[in-house]
Amino acid sequence: MQIPEGTQSVLPHHHVVGLGAGPANLSLAALGANTVPGGVALFERREGPAWHPGLLRTGTQLQTSWIKDLVSLADPCNPLSFLNYLVSTGRIYAFLNAQYDAIPRLEYARYLAWASAQLGTVNYGTEVAEVDFSGGRFVVSSASGPLATADHVVFGLGTRPEVPACFEGLGAGGAILAEHLEAHLSTVSSLPYEQVIVVGGGQTGAECVLHLMQRGFRDIRWIGRRQWFAPMDDSPSANDFYRPTYLRFFQGLPEDIRARYVGEQTLTSDGVSMVTLQQLYQANYEAFLSEGRSPVMMLPGRNVVEVAERHGSIALWCERDWGGRERHAARFVVLATGRRQAALPISSRLAGLMELDAGDEPVIDSDYSLRWKHAETNRMYVQNRSRVGHGLADPNLSLLAVRSAVILNSVLERQAFAIRDEQMNTVWA
Ligand SMILES: Cc1cc2nc3c(=O)[nH]c(=O)nc-3n(C[C@H](O)[C@H](O)[C@H](O)COP(=O)(O)OP(=O)(O)OC[C@H]3O[C@@H](n4cnc5c(N)ncnc54)[C@H](O)[C@@H]3O)c2cc1C
Repeated sequence: MQIPEGTQSVLPHHHVVGLGAGPANLSLAALGANTVPGGVALFERREGPAWHPGLLRTGTQLQTSWIKDLVSLADPCNPLSFLNYLVSTGRIYAFLNAQYDAIPRLEYARYLAWASAQLGTVNYGTEVAEVDFSGGRFVVSSASGPLATADHVVFGLGTRPEVPACFEGLGAGGAILAEHLEAHLSTVSSLPYEQVIVVGGGQTGAECVLHLMQRGFRDIRWIGRRQWFAPMDDSPSANDFYRPTYLRFFQGLPEDIRARYVGEQTLTSDGVSMVTLQQLYQANYEAFLSEGRSPVMMLPGRNVVEVAERHGSIALWCERDWGGRERHAARFVVLATGRRQAALPISSRLAGLMELDAGDEPVIDSDYSLRWKHAETNRMYVQNRSRVGHGLADPNLSLLAVRSAVILNSVLERQAFAIRDEQMNTVWA
């Protein structure tokens, strides 16, 4: 949005503005609170603090150690650490005695809300519609007009659920996004032997299957594309990929090798937690013991290619990995079919000043900045948008604090945060 000359001075001006207040930008704001002049102002479209609401059911856990919180890997003395959250909310002893290997997702969401309240720089209920550049500053606007100007902006817009094309156009209540399942179940009367299909063989799909079982459904079909419902590789050697030293090695590789490695390493990030798979298999087995029938039919190696809705029932056609098609039908289908990046709200003028790669995507440098015409003085940074450029740690929580520290070092043009990863027994290069 172009604003008339002279009007800019009445807008609040920030050295750094973050778009989105998910974990990525909360980490940036936490580390920037005492290093960036004026702190980091965040604009968030949600009305209040929330982290993947609808996917925080009892029993769901973080797949990342709580030590990898918003700040500690880069700044362990920062007051917004998870440990300080537990101590200052009076829960540390109860938490320790509960002896978690992995913390509940709900606890992580509460921690983020606490950190946001401590920061006091998050503007909720403010969806950013456009970022433009005018008069040597970024102009950040909502649909109703300019909100602020900034020297630098950091996009931390996260992801949105992916809906495969064949499901588009289904009536409401036919295909339910995983994050809406709980709300949907509270509106329908369910008959235990009605068929329900869950599409998506990852962690979210597994959690939906478990939840449906717990809610009494007894005819659940679980469809996944891989040949098996693959567990996440959380081994020590797989975790070597989630280290600053590996990140630097990875960034220096040619693009075709990076792309291949990301494909080969997928299960270190996107598989199902072993504990969830065990719970699911055990619940299915125990139901057979008590009821004489297993409630879940596992259908791996299938790709849903066609969907039709008839008389309140949904029919799916799957292409099988080993050839041929098969049909399944259900009262409703739950979609846990992955997530895609939110679009960057950039004005066409600004987009025209950016360097694009062969796939027409913005070029992202090793400090997460976008290459564009005035990057010498005003920089745009992106979080969680660069799997192939920065490796599988990028869409995850694992190196959140490290990525924020790299961005802030670049913004401040000095090493405000030292990133230390010196004891490396695996030799990459
Ligand atoms: C259920 C679930 C569990 C996960 N668990 C783990 C885990 O245990 N470990 C792990 O490493 N990774 C996990 N991930 C993956 C990833 O770490 C999370 O998705 C994480 O939330 C990503 O953080 P983010 O800040 O980049 O994006 P998000 O959390 O998606 O935050 C982006 C924010 O930007 C806001 N926004 C978007 N567009 C605009 C706009 N135009 N204007 C203003 N605000 C906007 C959104 O409302 C949102 O709050 C999980 C993902 C899911 C879906």
